[in-house]
Amino acid sequence: MATKTHILALPFPLQGHINPMLQLCKTLITKGIHVTLVTTVSISLSLQMQASTTSNLIDIDTIPDATNTSEGDIYQVFINNFKAAITQGLPQLIEKHKQSSYPAKAIVYDSVLPWTLDIAHQLGLKGAVLFTQPCTVCSIFYHMQQGTFKVTTEDEGSDITLPAMPLLRRRDLPSLIYDIGAYTTLLDLLLDQFSTFQEADWRLFNTFDKLEDEILKWMASKCPILTIGPTIPPLHMDDNEYGLSLFKPNAEDYMKWLDTKENSSVVYISFGSLVTPGEEQMEEIARGLVESNCFFLWVVRAEEESKLPRDFVSEKGLIVNWCSQLLVLAHPAVGCFLTHCGWNSTLEALSLGVPTVAMAQWTDQTTTAKLIADVWQTGIRTKADENGFVTREEIAGSIREVMQEERGNEIRKNAKRWKQLAKEAVSEGGSSHNNITEFAIQLSSTTT
Ligand code: UDP
Repeated sequence: MATKTHILALPFPLQGHINPMLQLCKTLITKGIHVTLVTTVSISLSLQMQASTTSNLIDIDTIPDATNTSEGDIYQVFINNFKAAITQGLPQLIEKHKQSSYPAKAIVYDSVLPWTLDIAHQLGLKGAVLFTQPCTVCSIFYHMQQGTFKVTTEDEGSDITLPAMPLLRRRDLPSLIYDIGAYTTLLDLLLDQFSTFQEADWRLFNTFDKLEDEILKWMASKCPILTIGPTIPPLHMDDNEYGLSLFKPNAEDYMKWLDTKENSSVVYISFGSLVTPGEEQMEEIARGLVESNCFFLWVVRAEEESKLPRDFVSEKGLIVNWCSQLLVLAHPAVGCFLTHCGWNSTLEALSLGVPTVAMAQWTDQTTTAKLIADVWQTGIRTKADENGFVTREEIAGSIREVMQEERGNEIRKNAKRWKQLAKEAVSEGGSSHNNITEFAIQLSSTTT
């Protein structure tokens, strides 16, 4: 009879949520845990397998998609359909795995799927919730969910004081909070993360102790938590990819292009997998890049390409639809990352020591930009008008400041220091390393 510990992993099916879950699973596999990643049939069909060395050790099991009956905005339809599929199909999938020689003992699920815990507990499995946003951001949502914090339009311009956090202005909060009434579906999703927070058997955060020291201690005073980040493959193992992608990268010509450039001479620009800047903003980015006079590698997703200025060409730039961001950020030619401040992109830049120009767009990105610029000081934040619009002059000036000016030297020094601290956290004896080991031990000793 096999005795190997088997767990299920349920990521929210967006790239920024799949990546940290995958890397956590891969690390658990190296500790002798067997992992089955659960998703819907339609999502599994769009997953591209990358050349990762360990992701092929993860089994994938699928649940049939639900019939599309949901109404509302695109977020609501997407979220409701996924929830319907999982709530209908997960119990059967768990029962099926119970018949195998090593039934699953626990499920690790994304924090925006808190209802997974009840299903797991009813069927005798333990549940570990994985938070994929900064603990600072999670704490702000926690306060709101608990009713200990709320925002009004009168807060514009005044300081907001929350325990164990830097002073915040209204626009440093997640945009879902300060844009009152604009994204109620997504705000509800993020507040709901805490509906089963206390009942979860483990609470995992993709961050590390030194990065968010005070707020992590504050969160731990509410409930025990485990930091397990940063979940960046090359930090944990000999692996340069997460392993599964919802997007197909361009052929690796961009790496050859980078090889032809001098060290720290290229700006890398990506706004992640979801952000959709308007046409005017795309034009400002394009003109700002040219005005900076730096080489640039710009990820413009296929569905965004039509927003590029007509006939836009620059002899100093290369545009791709998708790339292997980890390989790009690790390339010595890359001198700075103009980023939307998605949490994975931010952790990747920090872990690989790349200075950033933080051009946050929405959700948690606005708070992360504040942390990048004012707390970790690994980059500068672009100034936007009240509609979030950033001009070409601001973009070009910010790039030059990081790439060429005195301030850039300081930022590079800080970036190097954080790279070292991130590495320490996940190396033998480091805080996240110890926590993952402890988690694996507890999983192994769990009885169902
Ligand atoms: N990414 C990538 N190639 C690209 C652009 C992004 O592999 O061309 C990856 C990036 O490394 C990160 C993820 O996609 O891990 C995006 O997650 P993030 O949290 O930064 O932003 P989101 O897409 O959730 O807004």
